[in-house]
Amino acid sequence: MVFNHQNILLISFLLTITTTLTYVKASEESNIISRFQQYLQTRTDHPTPNYTQSTNFLTTQANSLSLQSQTIEFVSGKPLILLKWTGTNSNLPSIMLYSHTDVVPAEHDKWDHHPFEAHVDDEGRIYARGSQDMKCVGMQYLEAVRNLKGWDFQPKRTVYLVFAPDEEVGGHDGAEKFSLSKVFQELNVGVVLDEGLASPDEHYRAFYGERSPWWLVIKAVGAPGHGSKLYDNSAMENLWKSIENIQRYRASQFDLIKAGLKADGDVVSINMAFLKAGTPSPTGFVMNLQPSEAEAGFDIRVPPTADTKSLERRIAEEWAPTSRNMSFTFKEKISVHDASGKPVFTKTDSSNPWWALLKNAVEEAGGKIRKPEVFPASTDGRFFRNLGLPTIGFSPMANTPILLHDHNEYLHKSEYLKGIKIYESIIKAYASFDEHGRDARSKDEL
Ligand SMILES: [Zn+2]
Repeated sequence: MVFNHQNILLISFLLTITTTLTYVKASEESNIISRFQQYLQTRTDHPTPNYTQSTNFLTTQANSLSLQSQTIEFVSGKPLILLKWTGTNSNLPSIMLYSHTDVVPAEHDKWDHHPFEAHVDDEGRIYARGSQDMKCVGMQYLEAVRNLKGWDFQPKRTVYLVFAPDEEVGGHDGAEKFSLSKVFQELNVGVVLDEGLASPDEHYRAFYGERSPWWLVIKAVGAPGHGSKLYDNSAMENLWKSIENIQRYRASQFDLIKAGLKADGDVVSINMAFLKAGTPSPTGFVMNLQPSEAEAGFDIRVPPTADTKSLERRIAEEWAPTSRNMSFTFKEKISVHDASGKPVFTKTDSSNPWWALLKNAVEEAGGKIRKPEVFPASTDGRFFRNLGLPTIGFSPMANTPILLHDHNEYLHKSEYLKGIKIYESIIKAYASFDEHGRDARSKDEL
């Protein structure tokens, strides 16, 4: 190229444009991150979540996006925020983008940065309680909608954004009451997106079901006796035998994970939560006495695909058999089946178009997604799956250690921004899908 006057002018013009574009992009990015920080700074941590703060923030966001908003309290002081982006074809079932606003508590002194400051370190990590679970997702939905609106995208299906309280304490005053309400019925929801988990590698994870908690307490009784005497059928001996038996079962399930044959959510997990036995004395326990009662509690998590009949038999016949003077109760036992007796999970085969749409949309936005899994713990998603609604757990966080409920929970800025692109792609695909989205469900019922 000859450096004549014209070329120099052209080069400086192009440089100015590039610099301006870079500048605009950088300031746009910093606005996006700053909105995320503001949401992270709302003190919605248990045991006393300040829902007024989060509600004010979210309704301000909704107004700035011209979304219709409604705040509903199924239980006083526990608001659920429902935002609506009206589609052009109201006959089609709607899309529900679900998230919870509350977070678990954080022990401030165990964190490198204050858990509610949303500090961004030099590497770009955003530290905050809720950065992974799940204020990221709630805010990414909003940012994706902001961009789609900016491009004049028109949804065919109505898109609802739901911000619910109390997930971290069981969801009974939030998602459960909402899912059973008339308000919910009238939304004519066709598919629900809820939370997933971070993934340490480059693949996103998606969840089509979750394990149900069974909190089992087993109790043994037996004749008391002197601590020096060997005799059969003491309460402690009976309980001990059960614990050994349970331990063997636990190891067999864990081995499947260790061998890479099953994922965490696909096995029955069992962990001892408490042991209660012994005769108290002023200095601890009486040591020369074998007590007449002994109890142990276990947190069991059962995948929807498990053979629950055989597990129940195992509990009755091996872990707490009456032949060894034992009995059992459940402190909690959530069924893995719905009202009609079918296991509660969302199909990910060709009968469910929403799964294929999600997978393609993620790939189109440059993401990779792993084979769908069972969520190892509980989420609010179960309330919607129980109604027979396709519900997919998905939080787009790749290359990220799983830090939900942990100290120093963080999400990298670049992963957060990438997640917004992923949701733009998903919302576009979902809201444009004009076949009747409940096909999967009605086929099932035939
Ligand atoms: Zn969560």
